[in-house]
Amino acid sequence: MTRRDYGLSDNMRLTKQRRVILDILRNTDTHPTADWVYAKARRQIKNLSLGTVYRNLGILTREGLVQKLELGFGQARYDGRTDGHIHIVCDKCGIIKEMMQPEKFAEINEIQDKSGFQINHVAMEIHGICPKCKADGKE
Ligand SMILES: [Zn+2]
Ligand SMILES: [Zn+2]
Repeated sequence: MTRRDYGLSDNMRLTKQRRVILDILRNTDTHPTADWVYAKARRQIKNLSLGTVYRNLGILTREGLVQKLELGFGQARYDGRTDGHIHIVCDKCGIIKEMMQPEKFAEINEIQDKSGFQINHVAMEIHGICPKCKADGKE
């Protein structure tokens, strides 16, 4: 993959660490924590520290290559997918499923017109109890 394939801006260096972290996130749909990313990444990079993983996740998030999800409980989660999709979150076990954005999001242009904002990013989370937790009677 080239720099362009990664969607990098010119002023961002694609260090090996960043490339490994980005690849890990783009190859999972589990929306993992920084700890999970660290455990995977250290298999590929010797002497990697958790602090370095956090710092790089912060940079990738600021660059818009990664989405950070704060669910209101547990650790922040990270998503390598930044195209339009919504998250449906289980408040019991923390599993996150992805769904396509509902058609209503097509009306975002209207919101942009009405608010006068330039909209860069739309995020939506639906919270509930997943089928497995429901079946386990954990409600
Ligand atoms: Zn996602
Ligand atoms: Zn659940």
